[in-house]
Amino acid sequence: MIKIGILDLQGDVSEHQIMAKNAVNKISLKADVLKVKTAPEVAECDGIVISGGESTVIGRLIHENGIDIAIKENHIPVLGTCAGMVLLSQQTDCDQPLLGLVPMKVKRNGFGRQKLSFEADLNLNALKTPYPGVFIRAPYAYDVEDGTVVVGQIHDKIIAVAYEHHLATAFHPELTNDTRIHEYFLKEVLNCVE
Ligand code: GLN
Repeated sequence: MIKIGILDLQGDVSEHQIMAKNAVNKISLKADVLKVKTAPEVAECDGIVISGGESTVIGRLIHENGIDIAIKENHIPVLGTCAGMVLLSQQTDCDQPLLGLVPMKVKRNGFGRQKLSFEADLNLNALKTPYPGVFIRAPYAYDVEDGTVVVGQIHDKIIAVAYEHHLATAFHPELTNDTRIHEYFLKEVLNCVE
């Protein structure tokens, strides 16, 4: 039985829990999907999901609660969406606490004022058919380093990156009915525990 923790500090946590549970059922996995708040709870998990929200707030709480150490010491795969992508990066245009688990830089709110929120069908290289991308004050990645896999781009901007067992998306898979991003992450987690 694997354990997936949805980091419950701020943001659209319940939506991720529902989608992760749906994905678990879809691929008939034996997994618990729980909300987690503390470093000891995080340390017990096989995979962690970091939701959208405000990356400065979530990052500060991660750091203050020692959750960054729990994730790193236990080599826990992370799915980070939107603010979660920001937190997975190594550098942003602000001074803020980051996990730095994916060797890339991120531009926060990277799609400019006129496009602060939008939807677009995305061609992601891990999926056979387009994925409905929901972007809300989304970041984009740049300066991705060797070893990262660019999973998707839009208007020449990188919006999905895989590295080791981590996955960062600029968009919000938890705000769709499409479980394929969560399924992809669950399979990564499974590869790690096997
Ligand atoms: N712009 C936010 C940040 O950088 C992320 C927005 C979101 O998660 N929807 O923290």
